[in-house]
Amino acid sequence: MIYLFTFIPEKNLQKIEILSYTWPDVEYKTFKVIRYDYFIWIDSIKNAQNLRPILNAYNKITFKAIDPTDSIYLHFIKGFYVVPYWTDTVKNNLIIDSIKFFHNGNYKAFNYYTPGDTLIIVKFPFTINPNDSFRLEIYYHGITNRSGSSFGGGLDLKQNNIVYTDNEPFGLRRWLPSFDLPYEKPQIVDAKIKTKIGWKTIANGKLIDSIIEGNWITYHYRENYPIAPYLIVFASSNKFTIQTQTWNYNNISMPIYHYLDPNNNSPSLYLPNQLTIFSNKYGIYPFYDEKYAEVQIFEGFFGGAMENQTNTFTIATHYEILSAHELSHHWWGNMVTCATFKDIFINESFATYSEAVYDENNLGYGNYMGQIHGDINRYLNHGDYNKPIYNPGPSLSDVFDVNITYSKGSAVLHALRLLFRAIYNDSALGDNKFFQALKYYGNKRKFSYARVVDFENDIKEFLNSENKDTSIGYFFNQWIFKPGHPQFQFLISKNFNGSTYDLYIKVNQNQPNNWARFKIPKYPIRIKFSDNSQIDTTINIDSLPSQTFYFNFIKEPTTIIPDYPNHYIDQISVALIPENEFIYVKIKDNKLKLSIPRIGNYELKIYNSLGRIVLSKNLQINKNQIEMPLNLPKGIYFIEIKGNLNYKSKIINF
Ligand SMILES: [Zn+2]
Repeated sequence: MIYLFTFIPEKNLQKIEILSYTWPDVEYKTFKVIRYDYFIWIDSIKNAQNLRPILNAYNKITFKAIDPTDSIYLHFIKGFYVVPYWTDTVKNNLIIDSIKFFHNGNYKAFNYYTPGDTLIIVKFPFTINPNDSFRLEIYYHGITNRSGSSFGGGLDLKQNNIVYTDNEPFGLRRWLPSFDLPYEKPQIVDAKIKTKIGWKTIANGKLIDSIIEGNWITYHYRENYPIAPYLIVFASSNKFTIQTQTWNYNNISMPIYHYLDPNNNSPSLYLPNQLTIFSNKYGIYPFYDEKYAEVQIFEGFFGGAMENQTNTFTIATHYEILSAHELSHHWWGNMVTCATFKDIFINESFATYSEAVYDENNLGYGNYMGQIHGDINRYLNHGDYNKPIYNPGPSLSDVFDVNITYSKGSAVLHALRLLFRAIYNDSALGDNKFFQALKYYGNKRKFSYARVVDFENDIKEFLNSENKDTSIGYFFNQWIFKPGHPQFQFLISKNFNGSTYDLYIKVNQNQPNNWARFKIPKYPIRIKFSDNSQIDTTINIDSLPSQTFYFNFIKEPTTIIPDYPNHYIDQISVALIPENEFIYVKIKDNKLKLSIPRIGNYELKIYNSLGRIVLSKNLQINKNQIEMPLNLPKGIYFIEIKGNLNYKSKIINF
């Protein structure tokens, strides 16, 4: 293998090897993949234990140079490969017969290498100039095989009556030489799949034709929209029964195909309604001039469903919410693809949230909240909180963690909707603007990819265009980039002052230090009174270890219910403190108002934002409330009170 080092320095080679099993970041490349034209001729073979698919195949890959390019690499698992971190082993026996290289349409001689059974490295005989097109044609044959039970297994044949592919995250390279990273989306994929006559094949995009030669039939499909590699699939079976529906929307009429197990008489008939609901909320179904299909993989599928572009593969067709989830991925995952699998929020959190959006528009807001509460409880009940949503860990089960990526991610999108309600100071308007912002982001990233940080920037851009406060970076940091959730301790204290009731609510944030201190504007609380009346109000929780809020009522408050009716992902304890234990500080009109419920000597210090003392005073407290002038310029200060009770907080003089 020493010849490799003649053109690829060792450290770059290591980087390329690592690329095949970690979650690589978006990497700047000197070229762009423009299209795949692939052909696969499938027969079957009986080896010692199993029936295996044998293929004769090619993939013709068209590229365009962006910058001067003298070599490229492609992913292709030809032989034995143990996938690190996953319980999966590939035992392929694929043989490359030849690779041809064309530059601006002309055949050229060149060199290629296949180190480590996972890569094809191509060295061009000259440097390719920017904007030149070039094509690699890779011809190969052999057998695909895998062990392990999770998804993303590549190409499989079951019981000699169904052959299908399953790719997410990196299964495409197990059967098709390709640039197999989610952000590298070819603009066109042209597929020709040749099987025994009598087999019916479905692939991405539109059927162009099907041609019979002797005992073989070749189905020709073309996907005319950019497509992430992990969504490139086909399925073929001699057993499928096919049913067709039509979806009508405005002036559009689109076929919906159901490829079914012959014993299944219940296709997902709710798909037209689901297409309409999501088109109304997110913009028209992005592949409306092609099709939508649900393909039932009735043998050996991993047990769920996979949102392959225009072609959802599913184990079962009668789960309404599962169908809605996969369909919604056609906006969130397929139209806008996670740039890397660290950004899986872009796909799975959105699709899980879309289950609730579907319920809301189909059945009502109560059903939406039912889904959101389900997500919140699933996350809170599972107990392992130390993975962030962004980049949750190295294994497949980290990235596709149902509690973190799916459930918490969905509840976080609900929390973003609540933030919009707070920003717009109106629930209906906030909801409306939230969905407008999702559409804005969707349109901006349409047929491309997004990182979590792109979503964050697009939301800020939307708010900026609305002349709203865009300083919401904390939201993404506390909910997505850091692990955990608020663990609020509410300490309640009330005091009858002779005519009215003072109510003090102290909120301590008791979550571990490596989690964020949470900021939640307009956090809801319900207050109940001795006469059985109640009010719903809000407090502005800032990212502080502790805050005290003061209320004054003419009737006695008896019960405080924080986060009513349980909107956020949080854990709350509420304790009533019998005697007033809190110092309460308020600044208004350049006056400092203190409530210090225990008598004694206190030391008061106020610091400016640079940490310099701007006021220092000894206080003799013999009554609860005192007020003093505060001749300080407007700004942020820190106040510290020491004595029988202690207090430390940020204050704003405005
Ligand atoms: Zn999903």
